[in-house]
Amino acid sequence: MHPVRAIEVARTGGPEVLEMVERDRPVARPGHVVVRVETAGVNFIDTYERSGAYSLALPFVPGKEGAGEIVEVGEGVDGFVEGEGVAWAFTPGSYAEYVEVPVTDLYAVPEDVELDMAAAAMLQGLTAHFLVTSAYTVMPGDTVLVHAAAGGVGLLLTQLAVARGATVIGTVGSEDKARIALQAGLSHVLRYDLMDDLAHDLPAAVRSLAPDGVDAAYDGVGRTTFDGSLASVRRRGSLVLFGAASGPVPPVDPQRLNVAGSITLSRPSLRDFIATAEEREWRSSDIFHGILLGDLSVRIDRGYSLDEAADAHRALEGRRTSGKLLLHP
Ligand code: NDP
Repeated sequence: MHPVRAIEVARTGGPEVLEMVERDRPVARPGHVVVRVETAGVNFIDTYERSGAYSLALPFVPGKEGAGEIVEVGEGVDGFVEGEGVAWAFTPGSYAEYVEVPVTDLYAVPEDVELDMAAAAMLQGLTAHFLVTSAYTVMPGDTVLVHAAAGGVGLLLTQLAVARGATVIGTVGSEDKARIALQAGLSHVLRYDLMDDLAHDLPAAVRSLAPDGVDAAYDGVGRTTFDGSLASVRRRGSLVLFGAASGPVPPVDPQRLNVAGSITLSRPSLRDFIATAEEREWRSSDIFHGILLGDLSVRIDRGYSLDEAADAHRALEGRRTSGKLLLHP
């Protein structure tokens, strides 16, 4: 066995708990491949797992997403060969030089898509895809609200919703982010960082643009925006709560959905929308085709070296990023 470098979380906490360690290189079990990681994607969920908000057995190597080259193919794996460029979206342990990936999470990267781009587009791209096609199906003529529209998911979600014929109202936390989100196709941008009372000011601003309310609100911000999102949705509309960047939403009394106008509330997770080979193929090929045709623009905010993982987490949690953060082992 030769030792390889990885980031490890041995105790949960702030970004400082991300520590470089040496481990044995993984070996490909049946149904798996081992990949030399070219690029690991950083996602908000990595911060929940690092902090302990989502509980994992310790110690663990963070990261779920990346792209690289196959260096070993396990028994029973068909259709993938050594030397091939692949990406993955939901495999633990990607902040490392090598990772073992199950074939059920492997995506062949088209020749003309760079591995950095593939790593950047997987988790957030598949998420944006299931949000607009399945969690709530965006239809031409819809008006939807997207929070953190200049974020990793937000920029892709905005583009995919616009491509399906929706008018998108987006919220952002700075003037720079407003400019970036408008380039992704937002029709209206709201500076929610400048609002004193989000529960009141947010729906007031949304309803000044869409008087009946939006057909759907996509809320990955959570605690600070939830009440405002609920009050922004039209009668019989949908509130898709898909994250908690500002913290978890307190328990919700279902009666509130009645009072707000027979609202449908969902709390979907990507893993349930990539559970079959058909869904993975559908979603990933839409994303890769979008990139190849130039219809989908993936914004890479910044690349970091593996030993700068803590800096990447600080930037993401500090709301200083627009788009994707990557780690290069
Ligand atoms: P982003 O790049 O969107 O970063 C999070 C953004 O949230 C920030 O840039 C910031 O934008 C906004 N934000 C608002 N309040 C806060 C706060 N208090 N602290 C930190 N950020 C805040 O991250 P991702 O694209 O990786 O993820 C976006 C959301 O989607 C997350 O909640 C994540 O958990 C969720 N997600 C859910 C999935 C699922 O399957 N359900 C899958 C993938 C992601 P601004 O400054 O503009 O407010």
